[in-house]
Amino acid sequence: MRSLLKLLTIILVGFLFILAMIFIKYKPVYEVTVAGEKIGYINNLNEFKNEVDEQIINSKEEHVAYTSFVNEPKYEQKLITRTSDVNNNEEILDELKQNNIVTTYKYYEVSLNDETKAYVDTLDDATKIVDEIKEQFDTENLELNLQINEEYTQDIAKINTDSFQNASIAVETAAEEIKEENEAIAVINNVKLSVLPVSGRISSRYGESSSRRRSTHTGLDIACSMGTDIKVVSKGTITFAGSAGSYGNLVKVDHGNGVETWYGHCSKIYANVGDEVKAGDVIAAVGSTGNSTGPHLHFEIRINGATVNPQKYVY
Ligand SMILES: [Zn+2]
Repeated sequence: MRSLLKLLTIILVGFLFILAMIFIKYKPVYEVTVAGEKIGYINNLNEFKNEVDEQIINSKEEHVAYTSFVNEPKYEQKLITRTSDVNNNEEILDELKQNNIVTTYKYYEVSLNDETKAYVDTLDDATKIVDEIKEQFDTENLELNLQINEEYTQDIAKINTDSFQNASIAVETAAEEIKEENEAIAVINNVKLSVLPVSGRISSRYGESSSRRRSTHTGLDIACSMGTDIKVVSKGTITFAGSAGSYGNLVKVDHGNGVETWYGHCSKIYANVGDEVKAGDVIAAVGSTGNSTGPHLHFEIRINGATVNPQKYVY
């Protein structure tokens, strides 16, 4: 009995001695590995995990929507010799940030009628801009369709947001342009005429006869100086752009619903057949080509192919 106790004591002392030797030589740490590759050692796992959460996962850096690891880091308890280096948490965090995370950034696009007009940092700013426009314009009747889209990217270089001030001005300017386009001077078969092609003196009315013409006048002549911009009266498609006998250089625009406008005697043509144009687009310059004695625009409105008196609608 006594000898058994003695033996147990010896075993216990021996065991404690070995344990003491281990602790003199080794220390417990956590080894951090990513995809099987050792990144380093840390002392305090809980502290480190908290820092990962704070600095990576829940980072409040500008534009960051969320951050995730490419490969989850793994932690394993290890004993290493006391003389080995343990990394400080910052080193390991930096390593993870640089090589093992995907950061997704978020920003907001404000679009008007499907065209991007501004990018801003926050939903708040985007909403404020949209509200301002809605207060300032009759968005429904002017067909101003405003939208806020949340955009995501993993490329921070792609984020180039406008200041609130600039974004606000950009959207307002665009709305103003559409307002001008959509405010009709006249409506023919649901086609809104919202811009006059040129401003000037009427030099010959529709239906007038003249010794220079074979038939009565099929359009309205507006005299103005050579080179004056000729604007399209309503949105449409260019169906002709070229030389056409007595019309000289002529541009024809199809506005749909059987409505066409013609612009004759141009000195220059800027549009091409097939171009989609909107009200106010400059398509040509005033000239005196074809059967003409001085610079003027010959403006025609045609409904289902037949000319009508433009002055029923404009001028
Ligand atoms: Zn004419």
